[in-house]
Amino acid sequence: MDRSKNFTHELPEGYKPVKEVDVGDKRFGLLMNVAGIVLTALAGVGFFFLKFRGDPGSAFPDLGNIWVFEGWLFALLVGLIAYLVLHELTHGVVYRILTGEKLTFGLKLTCAYCGVPNIYVTRKAALLSLLAPFTVFSVAFLVPFFVLSGPVSFTFLVLFALHFGGCVGDLYDTILLLFCLKGKLLMRDTGPKQTFYVLSDGEGDA
Ligand SMILES: [Zn+2]
Repeated sequence: MDRSKNFTHELPEGYKPVKEVDVGDKRFGLLMNVAGIVLTALAGVGFFFLKFRGDPGSAFPDLGNIWVFEGWLFALLVGLIAYLVLHELTHGVVYRILTGEKLTFGLKLTCAYCGVPNIYVTRKAALLSLLAPFTVFSVAFLVPFFVLSGPVSFTFLVLFALHFGGCVGDLYDTILLLFCLKGKLLMRDTGPKQTFYVLSDGEGDA
């Protein structure tokens, strides 16, 4: 594979920064988290209705038994932490395959992140890395949600809903790349911050 097509080390002449997305910025980070909570609630309620509308009570673990409930909460927490790590690793694997460059991982108050800070990636490479965790984990959580039943199915629903809301930053960047930023484009992703550069004379498309 010719990785050099997917990125450059130096910003080529003529590219100008046109948009910056920084979840490290308190205001924007808060806004993204609020949007994430809304997406989580919508996905959770929508899919709950889809599957459990006939018998809502069958979804929940035994709420009368404190050990069952606490065990369930603990399993969910472990699942979520594993998910968070795997989500970022999935971004990283795709960036690594496409570029072979050094990655950066981290955790902020407003987000967990993975970036490839020393290079400028093409629109295609950016989209592949942004959408990889969204795609992989939507399938990984929705298949057992639909196939299994009862509280186990419900657990995958909770994981899916939190995953869906948690992808809000990735989805926001995706919308910018697909619909808002036209022309030849490169993206620099330091992890919490993505900067988009567009060739100012705007010939062709990256
Ligand atoms: Zn992500």
